[in-house]
Order: sequence, then structure tokens, then C-alpha cells
Amino acid sequence: MGKIWRISGPVVIAEGMRGSQVYEVVHIGEEELIGEVIGLDGDRATIQAHEDTLGLRVGERIEGTGKILTAELGPGIMASIYDGLQKSLTSLMSGGELFLKRGAKAFALPRDKKWHFTPRVKVGDTLDEGHIIGVVPETELVEHRIMVPPGTRGTLKRIVGEGEYTIEEPIAWVEQDGVQKELTLKQEWPVRKPRPYKNRFDPSGLLVTGMRIMDYMFPLALGGKACVPGGFGTGKTVALQQLVRWAQTDINIYVGCGERGNEMADVLHSFTRLREPKTGRLLMEKEVFIANTSNMPVIAREVSVFIGITLAEYFRDMGYDILLVADSTSRWAEAMRELGGRLEEMPGEEGFPPYLGSRLASFYERAGMVECLGSPQRKGSLTVVGAVSPPGADFSEPVTQNTLRIIEALYSLDVALANRRHFPTINWLASYSLYAESTREWWSEIAPDWADIRASALKVLQQEAQLEEIVRLVGPEALPENDKLLLLCARMIREDFLAQSAYHEIDTYCLPKRAHLMLRTIMKFYELAGAMVNSGIPVSEIRSSPMVPRISRMKDIPSEEFEDRIAELWTEMDASLVGG
Ligand code: ADP
Ligand code: MG
Repeated sequence: MGKIWRISGPVVIAEGMRGSQVYEVVHIGEEELIGEVIGLDGDRATIQAHEDTLGLRVGERIEGTGKILTAELGPGIMASIYDGLQKSLTSLMSGGELFLKRGAKAFALPRDKKWHFTPRVKVGDTLDEGHIIGVVPETELVEHRIMVPPGTRGTLKRIVGEGEYTIEEPIAWVEQDGVQKELTLKQEWPVRKPRPYKNRFDPSGLLVTGMRIMDYMFPLALGGKACVPGGFGTGKTVALQQLVRWAQTDINIYVGCGERGNEMADVLHSFTRLREPKTGRLLMEKEVFIANTSNMPVIAREVSVFIGITLAEYFRDMGYDILLVADSTSRWAEAMRELGGRLEEMPGEEGFPPYLGSRLASFYERAGMVECLGSPQRKGSLTVVGAVSPPGADFSEPVTQNTLRIIEALYSLDVALANRRHFPTINWLASYSLYAESTREWWSEIAPDWADIRASALKVLQQEAQLEEIVRLVGPEALPENDKLLLLCARMIREDFLAQSAYHEIDTYCLPKRAHLMLRTIMKFYELAGAMVNSGIPVSEIRSSPMVPRISRMKDIPSEEFEDRIAELWTEMDASLVGG
């Protein structure tokens, strides 16, 4: 209907566009590249192309679709690898190459695959939005619950029997205000709009990540929002990968946004072999990957983030606990800056658009714990963790600062720790979690003394930091014996508890009970050694106790033997760490 009038990078100005809508999806040129109308002035439309516009010519046609950008939701999402526009890369990937020809057509969900549908409602039932009408075993790990889409409610007039159906075949007929609506296994949802729910609750319960410093020190609650800022090489990507690998959630979604393509290919490669610790099933079966890597169009970064969060909300609505991680939101912000520049908008701080903060918030604020729409009654949660890559690790820059205003748990990665090869580089003095209270109840079932042990260990680390200045001036040997012991204990907490290599066969993840026993052991050592110091035994002697290396080897103990070996260690500590 329209024609290209001007092209400036990803921004296309079209004429003859009267009647289009802001945010309407358009097809640009012969190759039908995907774009969105972002501004209208008379018959002229400003269009943001989500694919590379190189080679497009003035005068090529532009076709409106009458639709806004939606995500396709239904069986076939799990274990998928999508590009930033939800085109399936799994079906287009060749030779491990994560690259999609622009304009390529690939549906998000397979059209011809048949799914085994079992109805859960009967004719005559009154159905509300979100009502679960049946289930499909999508993968070995995920049961896909087919829900009445938002906006539809009424009386069930007909439903198919248990059997095999594609996502496009009608499976149920609902009468709404005298009109029959056909439901299929698939539905659609506009990606920029949060999906509705009944009620919202404060995040609660622990999202078990397997990372000790997170779970124990700065717990993340189900439904929470967190960020992981850090300079280059501090471990953002590895941390987020560890999260989607080991988090004890029902479904994990990884959005690779503007980061290196080969890194993404590595993640995918490693995932194809990994197994879920609880069930032994392939981990891929509870994962979704969205890859909009640095070799893909910059401008689709924003869409990739919103597609990811929409998929996450859809599964949340089924009553699941979902984790979504995005690596890196800074690359998305850079895309906003580039687009703002092309549109000649008035820039805000450091050239970022003035709406940077509100746009970031519109992503993070879709996290939460909710009571889902429809029956049966159920709760779902969506937890969001975003990486932020401040240039030069300078956290005062706008993306970090705007993100800090939104999130409630901060995992601050530290260049100095990376240089010392202390991983994860989460700085225990600069990080925080506002979820310590809301996860307390969860923890109290596993470890009634969690809050006390956590507080004492954090205090030891703070005291260590305060002593550092004195140590620098006078050397550690000039300190009183109590302080020397404190430094020894702080080192044990840092090295034997907080440090955890992603590449260690056993220690790559650590369940909360085990984490508690590890820290409890170190704190017990501190207590016993404190009594020794009080009875006049020098710390130099305590330091050479065989218990010290035994404690540092806790990480190597296989999980089956863990509790027995720790019990032995405690008995020996009680026998050998005694005052004179
Ligand atoms: P970033 O994404 O912040 O640039 P990466 O996540 O790529 O940094 O990490 C850089 C390197 O640091 C990794 O290749 C790895 O060698 C090391 N590293 C990071 N995190 C860990 C970890 N948890 N355990 C062991 N090594 C790590
Ligand atoms: Mg990275």
C-alpha cells in the first residue's frame, strides 16, 4: 500500500501510509522485511525495520499487516532456539551457524506437527479467560496447559476428544455473547503488553540457583527482579548461563541480546548434552533460547527482549515458576540510543533517549508472582535477571543507574575479583537483596539458623574490610590475635564458601542444604578457634591445624557422601580444636 520514501539505517520513511497504526507491523520491500510503524504524520510513516535494510531502494513497496507485533504461543516453544523476531533457528540452522538470512520465513511453532491433546473440560462448562481446557505433553519435562486466551469467555459448546492435533486445527468452540469462537492449541499476544492476571503478590520463596553467594547471602525470591552489572570479563555471561542451567524453576528462558554469536553457539552446544539433576532428563526440554547476537540486526534487540518476556508470562499463566535472563540489557539500550539518534530525538544522558528508564522498567516490571486468570486456581511466578555491561566498569553510567532504580537484588561483579580469579566475582560488600525477609520462611525449613549464620558471616566479611586499612599500614602480624583469627575465618568464608567455579565437576552447583552445612562448618571452626585464642593459643598454631585444608576440600565431596563426611569432620573438629 505504501512506498519507501527515505532510508536511514534501520529507519525507513514511507509515504502513502494513511490508515496505518502506530506499532502496526509492516512488510518492507520485495524481501518483506519485518518492521514496525513508530510514528505517523499524515500519509507519511516512520518505520523501524527489525532486519538489515542494506540494499533496500526508495520506491519499493511497503505492506501493512493490520496487526501489531505479537508472539506466537502454543506447543512447540520448549527447547526452541529463536532469533529476535521469534523465527525458529532450530529449523533454519545449518552447520551450527547461528545466522538467519534476512527476510527468511520460519514459523515460531511447527505447523504440521501433531500434539497429543487431552481435554480437561466438558460441553456446557462456563469458561473464563485463562481457564485450562486441556493439556499437551510438550516435552518430557513440561506439560503444556492449553488456556482460554485473554478476551475470550463463555459457554463451551463443543470440544474435540483426546487425540492428535496440530496448532491450527480448532479444538474447542466457545459461545460468547451469541457468537461462536474457535479455539486452537495456539494463541497470540502483543509483545509490548503485559499479559493479564488476577492478583499480584510480593515475591516469596527462594529461587534456588545452586550458586551459594546468591542463595545464601543475597537470596533471589520467586517473582523477583535482579541485575548483574559488571565490566568486561567479570563473568556476567557465565553467571547467567549457570542460572539457566541449574535454577530449580519449571522453565528457563535465555535471551542473548547483542552479545557475541560464538558465545551463544557455545552455550547452545553445551546445553544439548546437559541433564537436569533431579530427573536426569535433557535440560533443553525446559529451556527456550532467544538469540539476537551481535551479528544480527541491532534493532531487533528490543523485540527479542519483549518476545522473551511474553513467552515467559505465557508459561507463568499456566502456573509455573519461570526464570528469564537477558544478556545484555546494555546492548538493547545501545540499540535504543542508535534508533533515537536516527529519529533525531532529543537525547538524554550520554545520548540515551530520555525514556531509557521507563523502557527498562517496562521489561523488569513484568516480573512477579501472580494468581493466574481462570480455573483451576493457581499461582505462577516470573523472575527476571538482566546483565548490564557498563563501559569501563563504570557503574555511574545511565543504563546501570536506571536499572538499579528498578531491581530489588543486585549482584555486583567486581573486576578486582576477576583479576584474582575469584569466581563468581559477586562483590559481597557491594551486593544486596531486598528478598532476605521474604525468603526467610523458605530457608527456615532447611536451616532454622540460616538468618543468624548468614548475618554472622556477612559481619565477619565487613570486619575484614575494616581491618584491611590497618593491615596495609602495619602488616597482619601486628594485629591482636582475635583480629588475626577473624582474617583467617574471613578468608575461609571467601575461598571455601563464596568462591565457586562454574567448571568444577561437583561444585558447579550446590543445593541450599549443602551450602548451609558448608558455611555452618566454617562458622563452627571460628567458634572453636575463638575459644582456643581466648585460652592463649596463638593463631599461627590454629592456622596450621589439619582442619583448615580439610574445610577447604569440602567442595570436592560428592553429594551422596556429603552429610556423613561433614558429620565426621565436626567430630574431629570437636576433638582437635580445644583450648590448652
Ligand atoms: P563477561 O560476560 O562479563 O564479559 P564471561 O562470563 O564471559 O564475562 O567470563 C569471562 C571468563 O571468566 C570466563 O570465560 C571464565 O574463564 C571466567 N569465569 C567467569 N565466571 C566464572 C565462574 N563462575 N567460574 C569459573 N570461571 C568463571
Ligand atoms: Mg558476556
